[in-house]
Amino acid sequence: MPHVLVLNASYEPLGVVSMRRALILVLNHKAISLEDSEFTLHSATSAVTAPSVVRLTRFVRVPFCGPVPLTRRALFARDHGRCVYCGAAATSVDHVIPRSRGGQHRWDNVVAACRRCNHVKADRHLTELGWRMKRPPAPPSGLAWRIIGTGIKDPRWRPYLEPYGATDQFRDFEHHDHTDHGGATPVPLGRSRPVHRGEQPETLTA
Ligand SMILES: [Zn+2]
Repeated sequence: MPHVLVLNASYEPLGVVSMRRALILVLNHKAISLEDSEFTLHSATSAVTAPSVVRLTRFVRVPFCGPVPLTRRALFARDHGRCVYCGAAATSVDHVIPRSRGGQHRWDNVVAACRRCNHVKADRHLTELGWRMKRPPAPPSGLAWRIIGTGIKDPRWRPYLEPYGATDQFRDFEHHDHTDHGGATPVPLGRSRPVHRGEQPETLTA
């Protein structure tokens, strides 16, 4: 089942919920549909067009906005699905300063890499190889990354996410990731940020 982008009343992206859950929010007047999906949900007596993007009718305060969780999906999105060393399609995660030499598993030390570069680089520093990166890796910023990090996406979401940090990353990610919606793992709102579980607003508990 496809997923629905949930926006705060202020249009800030909050998360992704199941279509059924989004429809319940709309039917309970807790959210309004901004974009329709191509799906129709049927009850015994009626048919409703399921939403693709909904906006909460009341503003929800998100108490703490921490760093974007470092996941493989989010990392590949940040690096456009390309090896940062040679530009080939990325298939693996590389630690710029190798873990065996004290490198941390952090946004500023991990990059997407192709199998070949990862193999050649092994546990060496870039200076030892004479390799350079266009720019040092950095954590992504912007509220859109809450959504991008889930790996669930829909082209209709783009205009709502672009003002919040999803720019060319979102576009490239779509381009290079050929998994369809059926391949996406359902991620209920808040689950992609386990640190903040329990901080989700009441209004989203439909
Ligand atoms: Zn490479």
